[in-house]
Amino acid sequence: MAAATASAAPLNRAGRRNGQGPIAEDDNLVFETSHGVEAISSFDQMGIKDDLLRGIYQYGFEKPSAIQQRAVLPIIKGRDVIAQAQSGTGKTSMIALTVCQMVDTANREVQALILSPTRELAAQTEKVILAVGDFINIQAHACIGGKSVGEDIRKLEYGVHVVSGTPGRVCDMIKRRTLRTRAIKLLVLDESDEMLSRGFKDQIYDVYRYLPPELQVVLISATLPHEILEITSKFMTDPVRILVKRDELTLEGIKQFFVAVEREEWKFDTLCDLYDTLTITQAVIFCNTKRKVDWLTEKMRSNNFTVSSMHGDMPQKERDAIMAEFRSGTTRVLITTDVWARGLDVQQVSLVINYDLPNNRELYIHRIGRSGRFGRKGVAINFVRSDDIRILRDIEQYYSTQIDEMPMNVADLI
Ligand code: ADP
Ligand code: MG
Repeated sequence: MAAATASAAPLNRAGRRNGQGPIAEDDNLVFETSHGVEAISSFDQMGIKDDLLRGIYQYGFEKPSAIQQRAVLPIIKGRDVIAQAQSGTGKTSMIALTVCQMVDTANREVQALILSPTRELAAQTEKVILAVGDFINIQAHACIGGKSVGEDIRKLEYGVHVVSGTPGRVCDMIKRRTLRTRAIKLLVLDESDEMLSRGFKDQIYDVYRYLPPELQVVLISATLPHEILEITSKFMTDPVRILVKRDELTLEGIKQFFVAVEREEWKFDTLCDLYDTLTITQAVIFCNTKRKVDWLTEKMRSNNFTVSSMHGDMPQKERDAIMAEFRSGTTRVLITTDVWARGLDVQQVSLVINYDLPNNRELYIHRIGRSGRFGRKGVAINFVRSDDIRILRDIEQYYSTQIDEMPMNVADLI
């Protein structure tokens, strides 16, 4: 019944979580379902197979997060589900564990298909599936662009239960009949608003056409704008909807600041001044274009700062190497584009810098959400030129959040 109370009572800012406790305790989810969504506070009570439970606990999960408490059961019961929750609250992990629960490992056919907007995210999800599904011998494959087609064919012909991929390569494999779709019973769109937006929509429908008619569809994202929710009725049946109010989307654990740099030329010196702060743990710096990423990387390096960088025009091998170094903590400062904005989970990242303000409101939430994973502390710093102030105020107002001027002691907050 906690669900009904949460949706009925307006949540005021003062009453919100203070950022100290783990997000898993958070109840700021709104339930827009007529079926009532029960919260189940332990993985033990979800009817999860023993060997999978063992994998979940071994992976380090003790207790389901708020979204997991509500969405796991409807998903494993076969309902269509639209699940929204703040960044870093365990949505993608939930997909990993629910697909493991749902596939019949005795049947070596692809039974679940997860689509993600970037190769790195699709690969990360595959890794989580393999980890939590270790004791059930799950076979999963990341079917992503930039990798050898031959390897895809080999893996898929060998037989896998789950494919986590990007739409282009998945579609390609389906059309070649290497990826057989007849046993697929579950389609998940992670970062679903992005997947259903202009850039991907046609590819998604292309894949969807090949899937069996009695398909279960699950959509997850931190952001689900109205226009996306509206089109879901076209391919979902009576979905359970777990949604977050817009003003509950930013996390209290992530402190947001701006630096008034006035002019573009002054951003660089500001960043150099912050370098020691960047390296306290790990930091991600966002620019709006690949060219700008290259330029800034060069400029930082020629000023003797150690930085790494990644964007979509780099060969996949290089992208993989940079990701591996950053995940292991070998590199600490990553300059990148919005290829990094969604889903990627590196727990050590505690600082996000918007060298350029993002081009839309959703991206802002996703970018800052690279820090503060699963209730950890995070700091987001926005570089704001005089003509950007309007955009910053718009973000602040849209999410009913507060973005203050960066204090001198910002390093203490990390
Ligand atoms: P989201 O997709 O909502 O951004 P992720 O699934 O990527 O969140 O999870 C964010 C982080 O929280 C990951 O490091 C993940 O391992 C961790 N996590 C997820 N669920 C749990 C849980 N129940 N207990 C502890 N840690 C969790
Ligand atoms: Mg995610």
